[in-house]
Amino acid sequence: MTLAGRGAVVTGGSRGIGLAVARALAEAGAAVVVAARAPDGLEAVARALCAAGRRAWAVPCDVADPEGVRTLAREAEARLGHVDILVNNAGISHSASVQKTTLEEWQRILTVNATGPFLCTQAFLPGMRARGWGRVVNIASVAGLGGGKYIAAYSASKHAVIGFTRSVAAEVAGTGVTVNAVCPGYVDTDMTRQSVSRIAAKTGMSPVDALRAALDTTGQRRLIPPEEVASAVLALCHGAGSATNGEAVVIAEAGSRR
Ligand code: NDP
Repeated sequence: MTLAGRGAVVTGGSRGIGLAVARALAEAGAAVVVAARAPDGLEAVARALCAAGRRAWAVPCDVADPEGVRTLAREAEARLGHVDILVNNAGISHSASVQKTTLEEWQRILTVNATGPFLCTQAFLPGMRARGWGRVVNIASVAGLGGGKYIAAYSASKHAVIGFTRSVAAEVAGTGVTVNAVCPGYVDTDMTRQSVSRIAAKTGMSPVDALRAALDTTGQRRLIPPEEVASAVLALCHGAGSATNGEAVVIAEAGSRR
């Protein structure tokens, strides 16, 4: 199966899950635009992919900024010709009790994690529908399927992503475009390392115990490699995945849903 001839945009493509997804799509033959806020890491990703013989470009963008997303759409289409695949991966985490969550934090989490995918999907969906083929994959979380202590804002934002996924999937059903979500448990990325450091700092636990405590909340015994998430995204992007629409695919160990 190949994605040769397809153009793909991966938000949050400078590290972690987004980087693994960008690599997987590029290795499958897609031309890829990676987007994130900080340009340095992003450009290094595009350069490394090009050095490996892939086609890749970096376009700095804050997905929470409507004008930034419009610019991303223009620049991605200029480089790729057409955008067939959108992976809404950019996201931020947050942990605090509901009482300690400020309105600004709540709004920022919802804006980046939920409004970002809305703005990007709005920007790229019309072209996919016009061409009769497209794949939108939203990186949600097991926190989008259940709740947990101290993650009210993050969990609400990921529930929003899943509701958005299912609703847009209903709108595009039968058009050749599919919209799905993947819902990982804890993945081995900077985001998880920062969460574990926060837990250790707040509780006085050692980093090892803090990681174990975090994994216990989802029933995981190990961190998921970003490449495992990328494989699931890739499967949803291939042509053979056209019958899968509006799904929320869990990537975690059995029984780890929270
Ligand atoms: P990282 O923190 O490692 O990477 C996040 C990426 O998103 C970076 O490229 C970052 O670049 C980018 N980003 C952050 N904010 C914005 C923004 N406003 N606009 C554009 N880009 C942005 O996170 P992960 O790889 O761990 O997570 C990726 C996604 O997966 C997120 O949506 C996260 O919620 C989700 N997820 C993660 C899990 C985990 O355990 N790590 C588990 C389940 C889901 P920059 O800062 O330069 O903008």
